Amino acid sequence: MTCLRSLWHTRMQIRVFAMVLVICTAMVSLPTSATAADQPDNQPITLLIGIDGLRWDIIDRHPAPTLNRLAEQGVRAQGLIPVLPSKTFPNFYAIATGLYPENNGVMDNTTYAPELDTTFRMSDQNDARWFQGEPIWVTAEQQGVRAATMFWVGSAAPVADTPPSYWRQFDGNVSNDERVQQVLDWLDLPESQRPGFISLYFEAVDSASHDAGVDSAEERQVLAEVDTVVAHLLKGLEARELLPQMNIVIVGDHGMTDLSGDRIIYLDDYVDFSHLHSPQLSGERQGNAVFAAFYGDDIAVEEVYQALALAHPRMRVYRKSQFPDWFRLSHPQRAPDLIILPDNGWLVSKRDIEFRGPRATHGFSPQHRDMHAGLIVSGPAFRQGVTVEPLHVVDIYGILTRTLGIVPARNDGSPRRIEPLFRPD
Ligand code: AMP
Ligand code: ZN
Ligand code: ZN
Repeated sequence: MTCLRSLWHTRMQIRVFAMVLVICTAMVSLPTSATAADQPDNQPITLLIGIDGLRWDIIDRHPAPTLNRLAEQGVRAQGLIPVLPSKTFPNFYAIATGLYPENNGVMDNTTYAPELDTTFRMSDQNDARWFQGEPIWVTAEQQGVRAATMFWVGSAAPVADTPPSYWRQFDGNVSNDERVQQVLDWLDLPESQRPGFISLYFEAVDSASHDAGVDSAEERQVLAEVDTVVAHLLKGLEARELLPQMNIVIVGDHGMTDLSGDRIIYLDDYVDFSHLHSPQLSGERQGNAVFAAFYGDDIAVEEVYQALALAHPRMRVYRKSQFPDWFRLSHPQRAPDLIILPDNGWLVSKRDIEFRGPRATHGFSPQHRDMHAGLIVSGPAFRQGVTVEPLHVVDIYGILTRTLGIVPARNDGSPRRIEPLFRPD
């Protein structure tokens, strides 16, 4: 009995001692009479990491310890549903603006703008006429939050005459390590110049999957490399004692599916469509499209529609008046007059265009699970260890404005869908 009592006493003493220690430590770490400039700045910072081609399930199929750890510490969505077509430019710009193509004008990687009679290509990254709506860096800058973009679709064009405070011209030769170092360098700026919103972009996973196929050894290897650079970035943030204030949003833009030379529909077997303009199929060397838009006069469009509507069981053809609501491609000027949508994994092409790959691609209907991307968020704003229902790429803008504490511009995202990500106040 005495023995038990003395043990209890000892435990109590240890507990009291531990409490005193905690209180003392807290007092020591509290800022005392320091001036504002000396105080550690713990304003939340939002870091948006875009991993091109990060299919929703890729981190389950290949080792990605860092991304999986962030998912465990934060929230992972079962999927991120892209906009149609599930290509890079429409999706990264829908992420940036929270707007569907019908509201931001980025209709595909190659976009025809009838109002300007101009075709925009990925190399036209500096032409602000392409990019409509209000991207996140504009919303941030206009509300006093500095933005820095280590690449992002649209960020090299002076959209709304408000470029990010810091940005880089897209150049695929800039190594992933250099991209991470640039982000850390921006965070090392004096507090008054330091960005509160930063984007970072990697295309390597998308390229590997295109070249070698879904689930290939190359895809596995490159995902591991990207996972490692994200780990370096986290280490760099930790070394700067910035990690506790970072809200990190990791997004893919679409998924990926394997192709085959046996799954090609040759449109010229059914009709001559050369008098219509198609950003994906016009031109001598253009073919093998996952999605084809056409522009032309009513009579020509009707003729092509009638010839193709029931031509092949693996594709569907829509006139502008028939677009299902979920297409969200009814832009006032840039809406195509006709759209051909092959099934997932099928291509539409022309007889004289040879199929030489890629092994895998994307651009197909966002309704197919193969096209869904991944979403992982982690940081003080978010819940921990939670999996949520699929979100849409247009929801990301609202997540970013909420973590930044700024007022969003009008957008197509759903406040209801993003709610489960956030820690209750
Ligand atoms: P996709 O054809 O849809 O697979 O496009 C992926 C490619 O888009 C990448 O390999 C990059 O070369 C390119 N890309 C990504 N971001 C940008 C950008 N901001 N400006 C120009 N090209 C880009
Ligand atoms: Zn992409
Ligand atoms: Zn791609």
